[in-house]
Amino acid sequence: MEKEVCIIGAGLAGSEAALQLAKRKTRVSLIEARPGLATPVHKTDYCAELVCSNSLKSEKTDSAAGLIKYELSSLKSFLYGFAIQSRVPAGGALAVDRNVFAESVTQAIENHPYIRLIRAEAIRITQDGCVECSNGANFGPFHAIVVASGPLTSESLADWLLQQTGSEGLSFYDAAAPIVYEHSLNHEKIFKQSRYEEGEGDYLNAPFTRDEYETFINELISARRVIAKDFESKDLFQACQPIEEIARKGIDAPRYGPLKPVGLTDPRTGKRPWAAVQLRAEDPHGQSYNLVGFQTNLAFPEQERVFRLIPGLEQAEFVRYGVMHRNTFLDAPRLMTKSQELRALKDFCSVPVYLAGQISGTEGYCEAIRAGLQVALEITQHLRGRQRVPLPPDTVYGALLSYATNPDTQNYQPMHVNFGIMPPLDHTIKNKKERYAAYAQRAMKAIDQYASQVLDL
Ligand SMILES: Cc1cc2nc3c(=O)[nH]c(=O)nc-3n(C[C@H](O)[C@H](O)[C@H](O)COP(=O)(O)OP(=O)(O)OC[C@H]3O[C@@H](n4cnc5c(N)ncnc54)[C@H](O)[C@@H]3O)c2cc1C
Repeated sequence: MEKEVCIIGAGLAGSEAALQLAKRKTRVSLIEARPGLATPVHKTDYCAELVCSNSLKSEKTDSAAGLIKYELSSLKSFLYGFAIQSRVPAGGALAVDRNVFAESVTQAIENHPYIRLIRAEAIRITQDGCVECSNGANFGPFHAIVVASGPLTSESLADWLLQQTGSEGLSFYDAAAPIVYEHSLNHEKIFKQSRYEEGEGDYLNAPFTRDEYETFINELISARRVIAKDFESKDLFQACQPIEEIARKGIDAPRYGPLKPVGLTDPRTGKRPWAAVQLRAEDPHGQSYNLVGFQTNLAFPEQERVFRLIPGLEQAEFVRYGVMHRNTFLDAPRLMTKSQELRALKDFCSVPVYLAGQISGTEGYCEAIRAGLQVALEITQHLRGRQRVPLPPDTVYGALLSYATNPDTQNYQPMHVNFGIMPPLDHTIKNKKERYAAYAQRAMKAIDQYASQVLDL
């Protein structure tokens, strides 16, 4: 019997998933809210519109951004193919003509005999596996459903997801502190200690002298900020104050807030520092650390300049920068399985409901495309009753999925692929270039092996 899958959202993840499923002779109903319902950032009614930069980042396989492209190529991603065809010169990065790219994707979808593109806003999934739309139309029942409605999921659908997952399950803003690589920190200055505890604790602490602190705060308050868009400023700062806003209240305000030194003793001086930044491990292997309480709206180059004034962070390499922007995403560590299924709906809905793209709590264009590709492979295995081939965590997207579905992660914030969340190598390589090359070799071998097991699907 022919199977039919519904995909909500014809963005990067939804479009890739639709083309992959259709290639495997699964019928797809792809529901897209635009142009009837605009989002604050999309400007066209194309599928797979790139909402901001036209760069899909580096192609070099010694970077995680390059490796995810290797995965997309190994697994024969349609959108990656269109990106290559619509590329514009951008040095070592893959940048595209956004209109040519999105137009090619839209045409492929519109012309595919197995895909029905429905222009409507999906507002809820029913218990029997149908999808209801705001115009009163009801589609289905389907054999599986994918929610790929992105960071700007429409209000009605977000409300419904909130009801199903509970208030802790869905976030509307991404207010994330920067994350830095552990190996780039100066441990002669930074010390390990938890507040009020003897001996080594779980936190790393970067201690300031008074002079260092005052220089830092002065640079922080005068640094260039990203101006929040109108649709983002509402409610954003009420929930969560950026560090530069706290500093603007007075030079000592951060010392009584996120930079408080109480309960800490600097082993080099035997005294409490004037102020201290605490860093908390971001992954189970301690390869990356976040700056506690440092959610920020500073422009990315300014984050590098100003945060490197923190003692011990002079050479810090950033895994990700701090952000504060509108972003609808689910609490993946509690709600998503490694096959991208939405756990919270398992008892509610008679068919499996999957997640793909930014709503599943990952971040980035290539990550969204890769998520769409992966969900199509997972659904195909499920629909054909095949034993699931697990995606190796040594691959870059496998590492991201492991990170995003780790139930020990607290206060989950979206993440893009990076070496900081890859499982450590089985031997230490001190030289960074050689270490990254070793990660890359391992990741490429793992994805090629995975591809050989799933590409015949
Ligand atoms: C403002 C902004 C700027 C960004 N800039 C970048 C960047 O420069 N580089 C980068 O790598 N990443 C960026 N991102 C992050 C992310 O990579 C992109 O948002 C990416 O497009 C996510 O892909 P997606 O498929 O998950 O969502 P989208 O590509 O947004 O696709 C989701 C689709 O679902 C539709 N939809 C929403 N609700 C419904 C509904 N109820 N029914 C039917 N359809 C619905 C939307 O109209 C949209 O077409 C940015 C995110 C935001 C919010």
